[in-house]
Amino acid sequence: MKHFDPATNLYNAQIEDTHSGVNPSISDSATYYFDSGEAMTDCFHGELEAFLYSRHWNPTNLNLSKALAAMEGTEAGWVTGSGMAAITVTLLQLCSTGDHIISSMTTYGGTFAFMKNWLKRYNIEVSFVDITDLDAVKAAIKPNTKLIYTETMTNPLLQISDIPALSDIAHNNNLKLVVDNTFTPMIFSPAKLGADIVVYSMTKFINGKNDATAGAICASNDFINGLIDLNDGTAILLGPVLDPLRSANIYKNLFTLHIRMQKHSENASNLAKRLKEIGFHVNYPGLPEHPGHETMKRTMNTNYGFGGMIAIDVKDAKTASKFMAKMQEKGVGCLAVSLGYFKTLFSNSGKSTSSEVPVDIQQKMGLSEGLVRFSAGLDQDAELLFKRIKESLEELNII
Ligand code: PLP
Repeated sequence: MKHFDPATNLYNAQIEDTHSGVNPSISDSATYYFDSGEAMTDCFHGELEAFLYSRHWNPTNLNLSKALAAMEGTEAGWVTGSGMAAITVTLLQLCSTGDHIISSMTTYGGTFAFMKNWLKRYNIEVSFVDITDLDAVKAAIKPNTKLIYTETMTNPLLQISDIPALSDIAHNNNLKLVVDNTFTPMIFSPAKLGADIVVYSMTKFINGKNDATAGAICASNDFINGLIDLNDGTAILLGPVLDPLRSANIYKNLFTLHIRMQKHSENASNLAKRLKEIGFHVNYPGLPEHPGHETMKRTMNTNYGFGGMIAIDVKDAKTASKFMAKMQEKGVGCLAVSLGYFKTLFSNSGKSTSSEVPVDIQQKMGLSEGLVRFSAGLDQDAELLFKRIKESLEELNII
């Protein structure tokens, strides 16, 4: 693969403001006027390209979408009010009643619940597989399979999907590959590795401020135009568009994402190393013993590290609860769901963001009830972060 750098591509994107502002002006309008009724009709018929109504396009959303598409190396993008909106409209656009999806068993709990419980209403069946077992992926293909779905780095087990290999399987069988890259923006460029559609929860690293929920879909012009086709596009008809005021803020935050990802990775990597030194089994893809380490090294972009997510197992949920409260008391960060924030966040996945996954499936996928997932923050002093975590572990006799 030719060297691709998402940050350079983003900075090279030509996004101009009509008023020469260094930041594009915000288009604070839900609807747009036309010079004539005929022009409006032409726009409805796709014969005139113009802004019509914000649920379809808005100049501010278009700017953010262009920037995201540049970062991902896709032709186009579209921005939504949450990550779940990006995921659900993508899946509903690709699938109809009677279709079949192959999904990684380990995904964000909301995605898992949508696929396992909600899609049933429309008779869309989902096979959950260990996405790192390529034979299992191949074996799950049926005549009615439409797509393979995975997360580049899975939530919360931090498995690494082999995107080029999954892309080969998908394309040899006429399937689409949909990849959620929420944990690893900049670090992985799934579209460049062969994914057809890349989805994001921008609520996380991309925005990085924990002040908004938002999502994105990056794909071909055809796919994005299909999503917002006035007659049968899933996105325009279900209507989960992002508010342009939020869009303008996220746009500005996007241009510091590459530096933030480096620091998140640096801090997580230090934590992983130091926790390992005191005898902990640490789940971090940057460690050579991580089962996905080699796949990650082979497919990742250079310069952004191995990501800001790390997990340790304190064996049971009760201990995890005490440990997290202690860490919060000591100023490690916040006992909160979500990730990609400038402060360190931690939660007990099995009892929170993966609680939608039934316990038997949690066990099958190897999710221990004592797993504490950390999203390493941008703390300047990584050693202090480690010291406070270590003290919390010691005071509770966990080590
Ligand atoms: N994808 C992943 C990997 C997530 O972790 C999350 C949320 O935690 C989502 C999607 C859903 O995003 P949102 O909360 O913005 O709807």
